[in-house]
Amino acid sequence: MTTAEPAEVDRDTEVVVIGAGPAGLTAAYELGKRGRASTVLEADDVVGGISRSAERDGWRFDIGGHRFFTKVQAVEDLWHEILPDEDFLLRPRMSRIYYNGKFFDYPLKASNALKNLGVLEAGRCVLSYAWARVRPPKDQTNFEGWVSARFGSRLYRTFFKTYTEKVWGVPATEIQADWAAQRIKNLSLASAVLNAVLPKRNQTEITTLIEEFQYPKYGPGMMWERCRELVEAQGSKVLMRTAATTVRHEAGHAVAVVADTEGVRTEYPCSHVVSSMPISTLLKVMDPPVPPEVQAAADGLAYRDFLTVALVMPEEAGFPDNWIYVHSPEVNVGRIQNFGSWSPYLVKDGRTCLGLEYFVFEGDRLWTMPDHELVELGKRELHKLGLADPAKVEAGYVVRCPKAYPVYDDTYKANVQVLRDWLEANAANVHPVGRNGMHKYNNQDHSMYTAMLTVENILGAHHDIWQVNVEAEYHEEKAAEGPEDGGTGRDAPVIPRAAMSAANEKRGRVGA
Ligand SMILES: Cc1cc2nc3c(=O)[nH]c(=O)nc-3n(C[C@H](O)[C@H](O)[C@H](O)COP(=O)(O)OP(=O)(O)OC[C@H]3O[C@@H](n4cnc5c(N)ncnc54)[C@H](O)[C@@H]3O)c2cc1C
Repeated sequence: MTTAEPAEVDRDTEVVVIGAGPAGLTAAYELGKRGRASTVLEADDVVGGISRSAERDGWRFDIGGHRFFTKVQAVEDLWHEILPDEDFLLRPRMSRIYYNGKFFDYPLKASNALKNLGVLEAGRCVLSYAWARVRPPKDQTNFEGWVSARFGSRLYRTFFKTYTEKVWGVPATEIQADWAAQRIKNLSLASAVLNAVLPKRNQTEITTLIEEFQYPKYGPGMMWERCRELVEAQGSKVLMRTAATTVRHEAGHAVAVVADTEGVRTEYPCSHVVSSMPISTLLKVMDPPVPPEVQAAADGLAYRDFLTVALVMPEEAGFPDNWIYVHSPEVNVGRIQNFGSWSPYLVKDGRTCLGLEYFVFEGDRLWTMPDHELVELGKRELHKLGLADPAKVEAGYVVRCPKAYPVYDDTYKANVQVLRDWLEANAANVHPVGRNGMHKYNNQDHSMYTAMLTVENILGAHHDIWQVNVEAEYHEEKAAEGPEDGGTGRDAPVIPRAAMSAANEKRGRVGA
């Protein structure tokens, strides 16, 4: 490595933005609108972060599927400022649960649930529900006990256990019950089944689902590719393949960010730093370094990682759903997107692209599996599920996404607080924003909103951006929509640290 060369910038105005995902680009764009130049440093070679559109051989697909839905008007307005209305599609939402070779309508409908479960199994569910009323599990402090107590162990095993464990990678007995209590509230998958199989029961009111959502016609990345153009047109710079490696600070302030562009180090002096890089990494690149207890807090933050296997198939191999939840325990795949159902602009020539989603830990067996083996695994699992003929797969691609989910373990809040306190005292002009930037289970809208408020703070306002997604008005009322990503998918369970560590130790034993 060469010595860092200072970039030519105006020290008084320059804001350095770390990351060109939704939060970083929003910050740069909002700054630009107010006449403030910025330099955006992006480690990757595409913009959009987790909300990018991956592109392989002309096929565009999401990391997961990205619905554009928000209750924050300022974000809604910004989406439409960045992309003209004609670039948005309004998509109907359809997603079903796949279990035991059957598709369960979601929300569950009595006739469909009865048909799929069969009279015998439906009867067993009712009996197990009745049993749970008489003899509820003693320990209801965990997800398994809490859900089984309310709906019976049979419904719990059918509709909750496997998917939840796939997503979080720990046994459901390790997930604390308050998440279930918060999420399940007055509607759950299981109460819907109960309502379905016990039609005359005093039914719980069913919260409406988000029935439709907006989607840029070429995928979420289209929003961020356009935003990058706007940011550059404002006179700011977006530097790709440029990873922030050091944040120099002195006398309570950051003075420069050092970044590495393909082996060349450059120093970017700064008046402020808006950082959407993981807050754990941010604290570790401070120079002078943070004290050991702060380092330990940074090391204490955990993540769940994600990879998607995209398979190009004939159109008829697809399904009408945007995605299906795969509850079947015999496969690793957790969810399958059909990108043809998201947007006709994403697919071509009578073919569609299915996105098989695997929830993993970085470094585990699936994560380290060569791409071609993952493609073969995806094909095998489609076959095992009876969903598609593997011989019809024309092409397959793999995209890995580290740190897809910030984990809420029982120490994360205290750890984040240590990091925040240190930043406030030692680098007050470094502003963490976004999802991993703040270690918050934010969707795009809240990630963007933290960036918008941060820009106002840089210009003199005093918003508490840590309250975004905490204040009632930001809460998603439809939190009980479904397992893992219900509502807009911004609540996550608290998982004890010990369980996370045990799951991490099992790396290498995960897999097909
Ligand atoms: C499976 C899945 C499904 C989702 N579905 C939805 C959905 O339906 N709707 C929705 O609104 N949201 C959804 N989300 C959430 C959404 O993806 C995130 O909220 C959003 O992308 C967060 O934006 P961000 O800018 O904070 O962070 P990121 O998207 O993580 O972007 C951070 C950027 O910083 C860069 N970076 C990191 N470190 C450095 C460094 N040292 N130097 C320079 N650059 C760096 C990264 O490369 C990245 O580009 C989903 C997320 C997942 C995982």
